[in-house]
Amino acid sequence: MAAGLLVSARGVSRRYDDMLVLDRIDLDIRDGEFVALLGPSGSGKSTLLRIVTGLMDPSAGEVLYRGQPVSGPCPHAAMVFQTFALYPWLTVVENVEIGLKASGIALRERRDRAARLIDLVGLDGFEDAYPKELSGGMRQRVGFARALAVEPELLCMDEPFSALDVLTAENLRSELLDLWADHRIPTRSVLMVTHGVEEAVFMADRIVVLSHNPARVVADLAVTLSRPRNRKHAAFLSMVDRVYKVVTEAAEPARRPTAAARAAVPPRQPAAVPEAGGDREDQSRRPDGQRHRYTRLPHAAIGMLSGLLELVADRGGRDDLYRLGSELLLEVDDLLPVTEAAGLLELANVQEGDLCLTALGKAFAEAGVVERKRIFAAQIARIPLFAVIRRVLEGKRSHTMPREFFTDLVTEDFGETEAQAQIDTAIGWGRHAELFAYDRTSEEFYLEDPEGTADLPGSAEDTGDAGTS
Ligand code: ADP
Ligand code: MG
Repeated sequence: MAAGLLVSARGVSRRYDDMLVLDRIDLDIRDGEFVALLGPSGSGKSTLLRIVTGLMDPSAGEVLYRGQPVSGPCPHAAMVFQTFALYPWLTVVENVEIGLKASGIALRERRDRAARLIDLVGLDGFEDAYPKELSGGMRQRVGFARALAVEPELLCMDEPFSALDVLTAENLRSELLDLWADHRIPTRSVLMVTHGVEEAVFMADRIVVLSHNPARVVADLAVTLSRPRNRKHAAFLSMVDRVYKVVTEAAEPARRPTAAARAAVPPRQPAAVPEAGGDREDQSRRPDGQRHRYTRLPHAAIGMLSGLLELVADRGGRDDLYRLGSELLLEVDDLLPVTEAAGLLELANVQEGDLCLTALGKAFAEAGVVERKRIFAAQIARIPLFAVIRRVLEGKRSHTMPREFFTDLVTEDFGETEAQAQIDTAIGWGRHAELFAYDRTSEEFYLEDPEGTADLPGSAEDTGDAGTS
């Protein structure tokens, strides 16, 4: 074991039902280090955190804590949750000492320690208040005090600031960093899950970036800025920019692993379905080794996509994603699905952190409503799920099919929850493109005008807007 290594996760994989969420993750946390785990929502960050702290078992691989295999909750780690997770029927002091009670510490000692921590996190005077009497920021202070009360060597935090308002979050971040840097708490290392690039750069010594579907480690970046950090400094901004590029590139070629990731991936068991030669699209695999049959749709709203493409067109067809995100007040989480959709529809792609319009993307941004719809319809008609929906509806005499039928089709690829989300997104896009219609009451797909729009999507509209809807 390397000296000074608290956590060493080796080849950790995890699946839920038939869905692979974590794919052979390696993660080290050294003594004295603040590590941020950065990735989009749903990528598996919370899952990884639960595995590292022993709250959940991996499907494959192992986690060592100071060289010893972790099995069951790790006694040296404590967790702070996004939603505070306080007991509403317990007072502040009772909430803080709950972990101490569990480890059999006597009442007197518990009360002393709890009081000290309540003081430390600035909640002096609120010992006997109930959570409902506290603001969100104060509740999270209780969350920190409770985690710190057990004097964890490793403090794990799952998006601890994301439910707080901007100012409260910023105060808490700085206070926590001070406590840690000044050794006023015995915590040696911190592992923080976040989907905020700036938050990661502000707090961490090292940023581990995860891709999604399934999550792999795509980058491990050292943040060498001196502390305390200033968000306005050029070096800070350029680090944010760098991380942003990595994050967006990890997502954009959505289904195309980087050369490095590909080299790191040992061959899997032979696929049951022979691969087409030279197929460079990854289409992450299902656990049985088969390829996904359906391309995963990013959950992007079409209005947002149009808005973003227009803005980039105004900027000459190319602009920095991070700047676009902050101008549109979008977090990575909101921006990524939109850029992924733009990529999937071949309207734009990401190059070195810039969003670049394709020729078609430029045409789209400059077109009017009807022409935009036509381009959009033509592009989505090439995506397997839309092609199948069209074909099925056209083939049936009633031109109607229950939603369940399509959900079942994609469940094998995505699992039940994501399958429903895929179908919801498909409905949004398909209706927008007028490729098909959907009745929310009967939960049925149908063709509005089965004779008129038999083949090419949008071909009926070329003569002008028929004024349906
Ligand atoms: P993140 O914290 O990055 O948002 P999570 O680890 O919470 O991601 O979830 C990763 C994926 O695993 C998501 O698709 C989520 O729906 C799924 N998932 C999480 N927990 C469970 C569970 N207990 N059972 C089934 N699926 C789950
Ligand atoms: Mg999470």
